[in-house]
Amino acid sequence: MRAGIYTRMSRDDLGEGLGVERQDQDCRSLCQRRGWTLIDVYVDNDISAYSGRSRPSYQRLLADIEKRKIDMVVAWAPERLHRSPRELEDFLELIERTGTAVETVKAGSWDVSTSHGRLVARMLGAVSRAESERTGERVSRAHQQAKERGLWRGPIPFGLRASSLPGQPEPDPDQAPIVKEIFDRVLRGDALTRIARDLNASQIRPRRGQAWTHTGIRRLIASPALGGLVEVGDELQAAVFNGVVASEDWRSARAALRRRPRGEVRRPREKLTLLGGLLSCVEHDYVLFGGSAAHGAIYVADRPGQCCVGIVRAATDDLITTLVIRRLGQPDAVDLFQVRQDTTALEREIEELRQRREELAELVAEGLLTASEVRPRLSALAERLGALEGDRSTAAIDPRAFVQPGAVWQAWTVTQRREVLRLLFDRLGVRHVGHRSGSRFNPERLKLEWAYQN
Ligand SMILES: [Zn+2]
Repeated sequence: MRAGIYTRMSRDDLGEGLGVERQDQDCRSLCQRRGWTLIDVYVDNDISAYSGRSRPSYQRLLADIEKRKIDMVVAWAPERLHRSPRELEDFLELIERTGTAVETVKAGSWDVSTSHGRLVARMLGAVSRAESERTGERVSRAHQQAKERGLWRGPIPFGLRASSLPGQPEPDPDQAPIVKEIFDRVLRGDALTRIARDLNASQIRPRRGQAWTHTGIRRLIASPALGGLVEVGDELQAAVFNGVVASEDWRSARAALRRRPRGEVRRPREKLTLLGGLLSCVEHDYVLFGGSAAHGAIYVADRPGQCCVGIVRAATDDLITTLVIRRLGQPDAVDLFQVRQDTTALEREIEELRQRREELAELVAEGLLTASEVRPRLSALAERLGALEGDRSTAAIDPRAFVQPGAVWQAWTVTQRREVLRLLFDRLGVRHVGHRSGSRFNPERLKLEWAYQN
């Protein structure tokens, strides 16, 4: 008998320690015991039986069966060969027509020459598929039920630690005070970059990565567990464990962050204005954007009935530019950018997020999560990635260039300038003109809060 061995790596193998090497060994010794001649080994590596990715070696195996190059297929288990009933049917048809035999290490030989044998083969396929589906359902249902009972699912954020009760983390005595301080500062309106800088200076390390970043802090604050809450669907409900801060404080901090300018991730680059999304109304806190064609060249909050603050774009840009260039010319300006200089940590975080994105895609492919469950996480990931990549563009700025701030400013892209503004200012506020409308420029209308006093 001329045998061909088919092995396939799937995601479950990672947990079971059943790699292709092990499958390969078992299949080879089966061939030896039976005295079959090994003609070829066909190896595919796909992460999931549901991923639908093409299996080049499997295709080659089918072609070789068709060409009568082999008359015996050896696999570790039936589900290694087939990922769907459709594939199984095609396979059964092929081996029946060519008179090829099949034997697996786990389930013995298939006798597909009889209807009973074919039925057994179909059942084996159906069973392994059902098993795989059930695992997926079990996992997501268990997660859902745990959350409904107020238990925590997922990585435990900085500030909490695992307790003896599963799903019920408890405040970490060392980290909880730090988290409280972070919330305090966010609620007072402190800039995330400044909080990150102080934490880095204090030698306190985040749980992942080497250094604190403003996105890291934003992400930390977003974890409902810190406020003693769990997210069930889109709703927040009280957890059975204690957070680090009161749930009202957690909600206020999250709201405060959402009000802050979030960057230009989804805005086309050429439409980027210097201050759109960075200016906010002093009175109402709404963010001003670079006006559309209808508004001409003004920054405007455009919240009908709520806030209509606006200000002339060119004059505001000029003033801010002048102030920033002057600020960058001061001797300590180089230090302002030091916290961003560690790009390896940044690169690592970017890499981590990309991997996380891959993982999510795999979980969907495997049926463990639905696309709609994953979509909000994917868009959150995309946003973080965008912000981090923005950080990277700032980190790429050569601090030596500060001897000529005016020229450097001109050389920067709008994105880089905006990153610099984020770093330099806690807030770029715009006051309403007395009677609440109008966009007349007047320097008095700007309320600027520098992140770094000199
Ligand atoms: Zn307003």
